[in-house]
Amino acid sequence: MTLIAQGENFKSLDLGGWEEISQYVTGPFQGKVFLKEAAELSGCEISVGAFAPFAASPFFHSHKQNEEVYIVLRGAGEMQVDGKRFPLKEGSVVRVSPAGMRSLRSGAEGMTFLCIQTKAESLKQWTGEDGVLSQEKWTE
Ligand code: ZN
Repeated sequence: MTLIAQGENFKSLDLGGWEEISQYVTGPFQGKVFLKEAAELSGCEISVGAFAPFAASPFFHSHKQNEEVYIVLRGAGEMQVDGKRFPLKEGSVVRVSPAGMRSLRSGAEGMTFLCIQTKAESLKQWTGEDGVLSQEKWTE
């Protein structure tokens, strides 16, 4: 992970390509990198997963108060939530409530995905309600 730029209001990191992400090890997770501390996130945890072919999360789990959204960017696999198994592929989006007992695994081509974790019921405004438009232009 390389720091690209940072300022009072931002931090930019380079995780490398998908092949490099598959080499990250965080605790029991092979091929997963967590961004909360690295990018100093204050409202959510985001992890990027790059599972090798036929890899799996090391356990099933639920959460105490956080909802998760999984977004598959590349490859395919499957997920199981509360005993129900279903396929994942590029473009799949899955929201899981805190109590959902979940795990996921990749298929023959591996699977690259994002997992965004945020406190359930915490979002009070978004997009047009929260965005503030500006007349600022690109610097040359
Ligand atoms: Zn989780």
